Amino acid sequence: MTDVFTLADTFGPEKVIHINNPAAGLRAIVVVDNTAAGPSIGGIRMAPDVSLEECARLARAMTLKNLAAGLPHGGGKSVILADPAMPGVEKENLIRAFASAIEQIKDYIPGPDMGTNETCLAWVHDEISRAVGLPRVIGGIPLDEIGATGFGVAVAAQAAEGYCDVRLEGAAVAIQGFGAVGKHAARFLMEKGAKLVAVSDSRGTVFDPDGLQLSELLALKEGGKSVSDLGGAQVGHSEAVITAQCDILIPAARPDVINEGNASNVKAKLIVQGANIPATIDAEEILHQRGILVIPDFIANAGGVICASVEFHGGTENQAMAVIAEKLKHNSNVVLKQACDSGVSPRDAANEIVKARLNEAMPLKRFFKAGGLGSRVS
Ligand code: NAD
Repeated sequence: MTDVFTLADTFGPEKVIHINNPAAGLRAIVVVDNTAAGPSIGGIRMAPDVSLEECARLARAMTLKNLAAGLPHGGGKSVILADPAMPGVEKENLIRAFASAIEQIKDYIPGPDMGTNETCLAWVHDEISRAVGLPRVIGGIPLDEIGATGFGVAVAAQAAEGYCDVRLEGAAVAIQGFGAVGKHAARFLMEKGAKLVAVSDSRGTVFDPDGLQLSELLALKEGGKSVSDLGGAQVGHSEAVITAQCDILIPAARPDVINEGNASNVKAKLIVQGANIPATIDAEEILHQRGILVIPDFIANAGGVICASVEFHGGTENQAMAVIAEKLKHNSNVVLKQACDSGVSPRDAANEIVKARLNEAMPLKRFFKAGGLGSRVS
């Protein structure tokens, strides 16, 4: 597989901004990667140890995802270097200080990410009137509550029926991670006739070849327990889900969980990447050689940002779901068709499609340059 993008290239990053406000205890980075398609959208990640490189990689991933989804938005990302579990009042003050600091970075529209949630985004919106992923009570569409990304994952899986030997009706599904993405992917796939045969969370995997009951798993999680506390089912360690006997595998938790150590033992015929970067480059090559179809992350998990974009432009929840269905079906088909026609992996096909779109979009944007206004790529 060829990685066609590097961290700094023709496409970006356009801006890297370091924010340091000792009085507020605020250290943060904002990366606006590319705005050819419009102002960038990307989450605010709060963690004590995120590097500039990670922020830049995540911002580029948002450029790819937003372009691939055909949104009028480029990609960006921000990180606040702090412990997300800090006391509530401190967190609110820090987020509000961050919001004030980014007020003039108008080509960056922040959303939620690890360590921030819709309440944090409500504080940002209160400060600068520019944020997505807001609570319903102030006009937002709570994308995790409605399962926007999990819904898109199920739509992508259905689109793959035309390109591999898997039919959702009766398909055995294994899901790693039972959070916002995983549990809704399970729900929507089961509505399409699939059977949930393995589910994991950070504490373990539970298996049942005859099918697990979704309601029992949801009740366990709501009670603060692990899916592996399910009585009467076979239980294994948390990574065992990756090599479970199944037709469809949905990684919906951590990065790099499919790697050179386990890619040869994956039993699934179809992998739909709910998580971001759940497989290493080498593992994806092994899967491709083995004939396992993989719908890459920035195509398959775009439901959340599509929902955020619909919210930003004043749409409703029903409109968001309709747009996700339309875009995920169309984009999965375009990528899988190109991959099948040209014999490359779906990720290589997706990279080529997005790169072509970026090259087409860049001249549409007026970039400033020495001696006057013009296109940066002319
Ligand atoms: P979440 O925090 O709601 O859920 C994560 C789940 O993964 C939890 O059930 C947790 O127990 C489980 N988990 C953690 N470590 C694990 C391990 N080692 N083995 C098995 N399970 C483990 O997070 P989420 O919002 O569902 O996001 C999951 C992934 O999807 C992340 O990579 C995220 O970046 C990506 N993603 C999320 C969205 C979205 O809309 N929420 C959109 C695009 C991509």
